[in-house]
Amino acid sequence: MIRMLSLLLLFTLGFTTAQAGIDAPHHSLIRVFGKNITQEKMLLHDDMLDVMPQDGQPGVLIAALPGDFAYLQNRGYRWDVIHQDLEDFYARRGRDGNSLDLMGGFKTNVEINAAMDTIHMQHPTITTAKFVIGQTLEGNNIYAMKISDNPDIDENEIELFYNSLIHAREPGAMEVLFLFMNYLTDQYGTNQSVTDLVDNREFYFVPCINVDGYLYNQSTNPNGGGMWRKNRRNNGGSFGVDLNRNFGFNWGYDNNGSSPTPAAETYRGSGPFSEPETQVIRNFVESRNFVVAMNYHTYSNLVLYPWGTQAYQGGVTPENDVFALMADSIQHYIQQVNGAVYTIGPPWQVLYNVNGDCNDWSYGEQGTKPRIFPFTTEVGGASDGFWPAQNRISAARKRICPRICLSRVMP
Ligand SMILES: [Zn+2]
Repeated sequence: MIRMLSLLLLFTLGFTTAQAGIDAPHHSLIRVFGKNITQEKMLLHDDMLDVMPQDGQPGVLIAALPGDFAYLQNRGYRWDVIHQDLEDFYARRGRDGNSLDLMGGFKTNVEINAAMDTIHMQHPTITTAKFVIGQTLEGNNIYAMKISDNPDIDENEIELFYNSLIHAREPGAMEVLFLFMNYLTDQYGTNQSVTDLVDNREFYFVPCINVDGYLYNQSTNPNGGGMWRKNRRNNGGSFGVDLNRNFGFNWGYDNNGSSPTPAAETYRGSGPFSEPETQVIRNFVESRNFVVAMNYHTYSNLVLYPWGTQAYQGGVTPENDVFALMADSIQHYIQQVNGAVYTIGPPWQVLYNVNGDCNDWSYGEQGTKPRIFPFTTEVGGASDGFWPAQNRISAARKRICPRICLSRVMP
């Protein structure tokens, strides 16, 4: 039934798309080499390009649009093509049997909402129904739900915040959230540690923040593989604000950790919290009393904590020891469960400089709300990319332990 609804939605969107003439150009995944290392490194900070998570090999991985090749050639770069059509590659490996599957087997937005309903229907005594916490720019509802004993009562228990799909092309993060929600609810009453957690914590989940961007990916790439990251703000000549650069702490601190250029993938918007989606998250978080926040993204096998940029306080928070200890525990449990060694640290150290992100605001804003210990987990490796093969969706199930262990680290 859900599939049927999704297909109906798909046809509707497909019709709308044809009417509006929307056609998103596909990307090529390329490995770019400079004339020297210095020139090559410049690419990492070139906000005219969609720089991908790097894999430790020589060269710089870029998702290039057709227009980018002349740009690179004119500057003397050369490149190897890894996937000529990245969207097509993602969609084809997401096939179910012989036919291409809707969204590569990842939940559509309709299915995300239905899955929340199902969890509540099956576990009404330890979950709330999903509830609206606000609307996106295009007027779509952003939903949250809570898992705890006595779910309709605000008990004096530690509150934890889990979210995903602030970046529209990272559906693997959302699947991890659902695997964890299913784990908590299915194991309750039989697994003692899960039972203790659900009885003594209040877990809040927002599986899809950037609904507009996710629906846009479905409209352009219904079989999965859509590469849209930002929201759908019309900037006049380009679209989209990177919601994870739009938060109001150290917003626009410099042009290294976010971009002032509207067309850039890391465009921070016209002002702090200029976007409805970040306002919704801000208001929701300020209405609660969260102690830990887990912001799920893909990919790179990383666990990140504040500060995002080295330019602010040397990149080290006053409570760096606490962050390092907690991240170390997360790393340990991930490795224990699936063997993957996640790299831990602040973004500037293990990835690149970031400002205006959810992590830094969660910890740094201590006036309108208490400080939160936030982590950004980049789920999956370089071969997973943004749209992992279907068998990797279930493999994500193995990564649930750290979420449980983390909430036990806190007093
Ligand atoms: Zn992301």
